[in-house]
Amino acid sequence: MPLSPDQQAEIDAQRGQTHTTRRATAEGMEKHLYTAHPVLDHGFVRVIDYMGDDAAICQAARVSYGRGTKSVQNDEGLIRYLMRHWHSTPFEMCEIKLHVKLPVFVARQWIRHRTANVNEYSARYSILDREFYIPARDALNAQSVVNNQGRGAALSGEEAERVLRYLRDDAMRCYDHYEEMIGQDGQQGLARELARMNLPANIYTQWYWKTDLHNLLHFLRLRADKHAQYEIRVYADTICNIVADWVPAAYRAFADYRMGGATLSATAIDCVRRMLKGEVVTQETSGMSKGEWREFEGVLNDPA
Ligand SMILES: Cc1cc2nc3c(=O)[nH]c(=O)nc-3n(C[C@H](O)[C@H](O)[C@H](O)COP(=O)(O)OP(=O)(O)OC[C@H]3O[C@@H](n4cnc5c(N)ncnc54)[C@H](O)[C@@H]3O)c2cc1C
Repeated sequence: MPLSPDQQAEIDAQRGQTHTTRRATAEGMEKHLYTAHPVLDHGFVRVIDYMGDDAAICQAARVSYGRGTKSVQNDEGLIRYLMRHWHSTPFEMCEIKLHVKLPVFVARQWIRHRTANVNEYSARYSILDREFYIPARDALNAQSVVNNQGRGAALSGEEAERVLRYLRDDAMRCYDHYEEMIGQDGQQGLARELARMNLPANIYTQWYWKTDLHNLLHFLRLRADKHAQYEIRVYADTICNIVADWVPAAYRAFADYRMGGATLSATAIDCVRRMLKGEVVTQETSGMSKGEWREFEGVLNDPA
């Protein structure tokens, strides 16, 4: 359970309030506001605030005086055109502010996305909770033998049990020592800013993370991708669902051109043209390296 009853009550109270506004609101996003969507064993993503909707993208693209909306089909066509031609600034007119609770090792990956505003929970000021990410059995995998930066089959049997025991026991022992070191009962008590160095990277942290839609989609393109680590991908997947409700037309264009699309080099396009003319092109005659050819075949071949 990622939320305490007090935290849930605060969220419920906030969700109980409504305000009238002249600003555009997105119906699909209103249902997400403040709600914590659980991720991993103790994490969550929740929307704290947002600005704009699909119409705001069109409004900015047309530099309109009013809402800038023509018709739903027109707007969808414009959004697809903007996405297709990397005309990105209209997407920057939409903003989102998230509250995310995530393990520190996931935060290390997430924070590499520099085009956001971040405010993190202070472990100098506050005491961290005894909450650690312990993978589910099916997310406890062996090192991949084909990809140095990935995982392979699930660990099994005694090895899986032992690894889980180490993860749990080490986390608890480190936290016990953390608590003992900062305690002021009969001792001075080590500063929190120092004691935290004893905590493992699977402890949870929290932050507010604000970004615009263009940079959010870039983040999702990289982190909802199958090459991203599972533990950050599940956060990205959750955010994808939220974005699909917030700006449905922009999300459809993103899913089509970015998530579902592929970039082909000039050499690859030349190969496609040769294939369409009936030539049997192989890696040796393609002008591509083995790696490029493998990825090219991956694009051409239906994964189903
Ligand atoms: C599968 C995967 C594996 C990865 N592996 C590693 C790894 O092994 N080691 C590692 O260190 N990182 C790794 N990364 C992180 C990666 O290299 C990027 O740092 C991260 O994805 C953020 O991307 P970004 O810089 O495009 O995003 P953002 O920081 O959000 O930037 C968005 C865009 O803004 C522009 N921009 C932002 N800041 C600058 C700047 N200072 N100068 C110029 N342009 C800027 C760029 O066009 C950039 O693409 C990995 C990422 C992925 C998705």
